[in-house]
Amino acid sequence: MVKILIVEDEPQMRLGLKDNFEFEGYDVDFAEDGEKGLIAVQETDYDLIILDVMLPKISGFDLLKKMRNEGNDTPVIMLTAKGEEIDRVLGLELGADDYVTKPFSLRELLARVKAVLRRNKIIGDKEPQEYKIGNLNVNFAVYEASCDGNPVAMTHKEFEILKYFIDHAEQTISRDDLLRDVWGYETDITSRTVDNFILKLRQKIEFNPSHPRFILTVHGVGYKFIF
Ligand code: CA
Repeated sequence: MVKILIVEDEPQMRLGLKDNFEFEGYDVDFAEDGEKGLIAVQETDYDLIILDVMLPKISGFDLLKKMRNEGNDTPVIMLTAKGEEIDRVLGLELGADDYVTKPFSLRELLARVKAVLRRNKIIGDKEPQEYKIGNLNVNFAVYEASCDGNPVAMTHKEFEILKYFIDHAEQTISRDDLLRDVWGYETDITSRTVDNFILKLRQKIEFNPSHPRFILTVHGVGYKFIF
C-alpha cells in the first residue's frame, strides 16, 4: 500500500482529502501543523508527502527545507495559494516535486499524486489491472470479479463496458460511443441493448442500483462514470 502523509491545518480540507485518498486505496496519515509534520517525516518512511505552504508553527517551506537538509528525499507535492507565483518557484527550488494551487479539484490532485509516484517508480507505469468499484473487486487481467471474496459472474462484454467507463471516467459517454467502441456496431445491437447492459452492470457495482453512484445517467445523451 502506498503510504502518504498529508500536512494540512484546515480540518475540512483534511477530511475531504482523507476520504478521497482512502477511497483510492492509499494509506494516509495526517499532521495538522508543520511541527507535527516534521516529526512524522522523521519517524515514518512515507512514499509521498502532500504539504500545505501556510501552516502553523513551521511553514511548509521550512519543513521541506529541513527534511531535504536531513537527506529525506521523499517526493513532495506542495499546496500553494492562488496567485502566489513565488510559492511555486520557491517550492520547486527547495526541492518540491510538484505543486497544486488552491482551490484545486480532488481529481487534479489525485492525478498529480499518481504522476509523481510514477516518476519516482513508486508505482508502475503500466495501467493497473485491478480496481475496486463500489462493492466489486475487478481484475481485468484475468476477467474476474468478486464481492467480499465471493465470485461475481460477469460477461466479457460487461468487463469491456466497465473498462471503457474507467478509461473515460468523468466524461459523458453517449450510447453511440459505446456502440462504436465496445460493440463495434455488431448487428442486432440497439441503444436499448446498451441500456440493458448498463442496468445489469449497475446491479453488480452500485450500492443502490436505483440511485447509482458510479454509472450516472446523462439524460438525453448517455452515461457518465464517476470513480
Ligand atoms: Ca493552511
